[in-house]
Amino acid sequence: MRDIAIIGAGLSGLVAARRLEKVANVTIFEKSKGVGGRIATRRSGIYSFDHGAQFFTPKTKLFEEFLEPILLDGHVKRWDGNFAEIINKKVVSKRKWGASPPHYVGVPSMNSFAKQLSVGTDIRKNTCVNKVRRIHGLWQISDANDNLLGEYDWVIVSTPPDQAFQLLPQFPSLRDELSTHKMQSCFSLMLGFSHDLLLPFDAAVPLGEDISWISVNSSKPDRDNAYCLLIHSTNDWADEHFKNDRNMVLKHLLEETSGVLDRDLNNASHKALHGWRFANIARQEGTSYFLDATHNLALCGDWHIKGRVEAAFTSGYKTAVAIETLLSD
Ligand SMILES: Cc1cc2nc3c(=O)[nH]c(=O)nc-3n(C[C@H](O)[C@H](O)[C@H](O)COP(=O)(O)OP(=O)(O)OC[C@H]3O[C@@H](n4cnc5c(N)ncnc54)[C@H](O)[C@@H]3O)c2cc1C
Repeated sequence: MRDIAIIGAGLSGLVAARRLEKVANVTIFEKSKGVGGRIATRRSGIYSFDHGAQFFTPKTKLFEEFLEPILLDGHVKRWDGNFAEIINKKVVSKRKWGASPPHYVGVPSMNSFAKQLSVGTDIRKNTCVNKVRRIHGLWQISDANDNLLGEYDWVIVSTPPDQAFQLLPQFPSLRDELSTHKMQSCFSLMLGFSHDLLLPFDAAVPLGEDISWISVNSSKPDRDNAYCLLIHSTNDWADEHFKNDRNMVLKHLLEETSGVLDRDLNNASHKALHGWRFANIARQEGTSYFLDATHNLALCGDWHIKGRVEAAFTSGYKTAVAIETLLSD
């Protein structure tokens, strides 16, 4: 069997691994201490925040079929939240989410979905790949201390495009391919409270503000944690302020949220901020992955299609199918 290295244990990398494990020896290298990438959950004392992806609504048969067993096992459930749109502090529209389209979340936390997919896969966590070199027809993978992490027949890079290019400087032709995919940033504000705020929604989109999303994170199914809110900035505001002092960013987003909800949230018992440098990308034209069959190199990830969970799945899955076909020839 061939040896395949996958860099990144986000959804696209995990999905590619699950498929390719049937025909090859697969190893994933992940720089973080956990799996899931932007399908992320942060716990802090009695609070738990899904501070990356909020939910997903499958649009393709392929993704629906993939989700079927995971739904049956109960690692993903439908979030029938009360959704609102807010303009100038007023709720201007409200509806309850239901079966069509379903809004799915991981349970008991968003990244339980990714954790479930990672069961049985060889994943080297806390391992940041620093160099990927092609030597004598094999890929050598090494970390920041130049420790060799192994030699592989194929490498799949499932990181956002800027990080992929840093790993592959010996492929200058990739610069054009990668530079057309511009990812935007996002800040996540996490607020925990000692009491229920009795908001008239579980999830809301404020329009015309520096924040683009407010959810009562604790209202998602099977959360047994204390009442907490998760707020996202707009991508444009985050791009403009990404290098600003983080205390100032937190203060501004807290003020914005207080303004939108028309109540002072400074009394939150827990306040934290996370900055996502590569959070999202608008819909892209072209293929859903990159494959160089001469050098046994592939790049996958949501950024080929759109900044969505389903796009990450599609890209990882199609990359794996393409490599599987090449391996069986
Ligand atoms: C704030 C936010 C809100 C979102 N909301 C939604 C939503 O509501 N609905 C929706 O569908 N989508 C949403 N998304 C998008 C969704 O999270 C992504 O589309 C999807 O998770 C991307 O998966 P991926 O595998 O392509 O990339 P990632 O999840 O980014 O995975 C890449 C992995 O590579 C790892 N990595 C990077 N460099 C290295 C290295 N050198 N060595 C080893 N490992 C490395 C990273 O740690 C990461 O785990 C949101 C994203 C963010 C950030």
